[in-house]
Amino acid sequence: MELSNPSVVRELLEKYGLAPKKGYGQNFLINPRIPEEIAALSRAYVPSDRPAGVIEIGPGVGSLTQRLTEAYDRVAAVEIDRGLIPLLGEVLAEYGNVRVIEADFMKLDLPAFLDEQFGDLIRDGGTVSVCANLPYYITTPVLMKLLEAFPPERPVPFGSVVVMVQLEVARRLAASAGSGDYGAITAQIALRCRAEKRIDVSPGNFLPPPKVSSAVIALVPHGGIREVYPGAPQDDEACRAFAEKVSALIELAFGQRRKTLVNALSARWPKEETAAALEACGFRPDIRGERLSARDFCRLADALR
Ligand code: SAM
Repeated sequence: MELSNPSVVRELLEKYGLAPKKGYGQNFLINPRIPEEIAALSRAYVPSDRPAGVIEIGPGVGSLTQRLTEAYDRVAAVEIDRGLIPLLGEVLAEYGNVRVIEADFMKLDLPAFLDEQFGDLIRDGGTVSVCANLPYYITTPVLMKLLEAFPPERPVPFGSVVVMVQLEVARRLAASAGSGDYGAITAQIALRCRAEKRIDVSPGNFLPPPKVSSAVIALVPHGGIREVYPGAPQDDEACRAFAEKVSALIELAFGQRRKTLVNALSARWPKEETAAALEACGFRPDIRGERLSARDFCRLADALR
């Protein structure tokens, strides 16, 4: 079944007695060009000569899922809304390489899920990506879950994470240190991935149209915290503790972003200690967290006892 225009999507929802649910962030893509572009972009990040799988979060009525089943060897689509499951069964009936799993993505044990759905493909040298038009009410928790479910001393085990988010969030994720859009999530993600803002999508491409503009962002995992900061501990356990310290530092620094770092960190590190660490790193004593890159936060964490 081709979801090629808005009236097909409307009729389909009607047939199953459904209407888009605001509480689940349901804004369905109705311009077929967009899912095509997103699936192609996602697939472009993984080698073409190896088996490739993809996790989709929130397949909705299946517009992006259809394109992903064509681009990938295997698709595992996780949908929270029970009402959509039979509808997806019809829309995806002709594809043999997709499984729809009724679950709340936030409650999944991600490493176990990866192994269940893609263990054989990974053992055959394949890669797994994540691709989604994310429900906007949980964008940041979803992204943090994707990145934090795995040990920070190794690369995040995804080919790429290509997701549609609010334009504002896309700008934030791809921002450079010191710019107005830069935030805790930017630095947290930069510890694990390179972020590229790719496709702008206006509200008219969705049913119903959201109040905000959207953009597709590609997060491409790099070698992990030791690549960002070669001074990170070589021992895995020590590296994990170091990564936790860096994360805590980032959260404190942006929790009170108007304050200087010396003040923002004072709940955990005495002011004289922070001042000495800043000096050792060559930063100004009155610097704010928003000027520090992910690597700078690592240097500071290293200098702070
Ligand atoms: N992929 C479809 C598209 O592009 O048209 C739908 C995208 S819609 C923005 C978000 C989808 O995520 C909805 O289908 C919604 O029911 C689903 N969703 C919301 N919260 C979820 C969660 N916690 N776990 C899994 N799916 C969720």
